Amino acid sequence: MAFDFSGIRGNDTLKAELAGLVHSGQMPHALMFHGKTGSGKLRIALSTARMLLCANPSSGDLCGMCSPCKKTAKLSHPDLHFLFPIIGSEYTSDDYVAAWREVIIRHPEIDLQAWLEQGDFESKSKNLQGNLSTRNILNGMHKLSFKSYEGGNKVLVIWLPELMGKEGNRLLKLIEEPPENTYIILVTEQMGAILPTILSRTQLFKVDAYREEEVVDILAEGGIAPEQAQKIAPVVQGNVNEAFKIATSTEDSVDDIWTLPHWAQLAKNNDAGALVKMAAAFQGLNNHHRKQFVKQCSLLVHKAIQTKIHGKAETSYLKPEEIEFIRNFANALEVPQMYALISVFDKAIFYIERNVNASIVFMALTFQFEKYLRISAASTA
Ligand SMILES: [Zn+2]
Repeated sequence: MAFDFSGIRGNDTLKAELAGLVHSGQMPHALMFHGKTGSGKLRIALSTARMLLCANPSSGDLCGMCSPCKKTAKLSHPDLHFLFPIIGSEYTSDDYVAAWREVIIRHPEIDLQAWLEQGDFESKSKNLQGNLSTRNILNGMHKLSFKSYEGGNKVLVIWLPELMGKEGNRLLKLIEEPPENTYIILVTEQMGAILPTILSRTQLFKVDAYREEEVVDILAEGGIAPEQAQKIAPVVQGNVNEAFKIATSTEDSVDDIWTLPHWAQLAKNNDAGALVKMAAAFQGLNNHHRKQFVKQCSLLVHKAIQTKIHGKAETSYLKPEEIEFIRNFANALEVPQMYALISVFDKAIFYIERNVNASIVFMALTFQFEKYLRISAASTA
């Protein structure tokens, strides 16, 4: 994931304007990128920061070759500072900067929630409330008071300054009279929540959401199959974070009807007509998709086993109804029963791979599955 203007899709006018400002030495010292969640605003902000630190910027982009560029490519340069929301007011962004770099390099369009889930925070329990505490803000500002380590510019990137609330006033003086060769780059998705005093002192740059074809390309770069990317891009309105969320959560479930809870509901209701239709649809899938469905079912039962044994399982990317299924199953069934069901799924995969008639495999699987559903229903009734 490149942080340079030529590697970023879309926003061509904006990129040219920014590169021109850096190149001509006219970049304002306090700037704010604003745009929707899942747009490329952080990516553009980081590219701007890199260009400000680059030793040989051209009129259109950073050089990518100089020593500062090599460091900033990894977001690791002694004059490039970050201030971002974290969990726990006793910590600062510095405590989590390694995780931040890793996550942002992988997914620069990430939203707050996804960052809080992936940031590996000490105190995870508190409903994942992220904030920019006073301590964190002061720490970020303090770092700008030192001389530049490498003799060039210093840059502080503040991600989601809307979370500062009134504490944002602490930034005022810094923004009004920044130390020499110092740039403050704010990246917001809720401009309305930022203090007017801050807004009026920063140069605003609007970042447009990605276009549909750009989302397809970014998903493909991120390892999502092109046909899946084509399906997802039209429904996310340019929100790349949302697109990745959908891509990674539905990877195994193929389609909405192909979920364990949906199937379980039909089986529980003894809805023979709907089950026969589902069997016909199963016949209509290719072998890869048939196996994906069965594997996803098996995975949920595995998660129920984990829940039973350890009291919890990683379920952050699952649908709410899947999480509920896991919980009910873990409550109702014993571990050996769940392993027996998993072996039923394994056997179905064995038959699918040998091209046994798919609708027969599906109905046979349904009869077996019903037995376990009855145990689960009896216990929760
Ligand atoms: Zn360079």
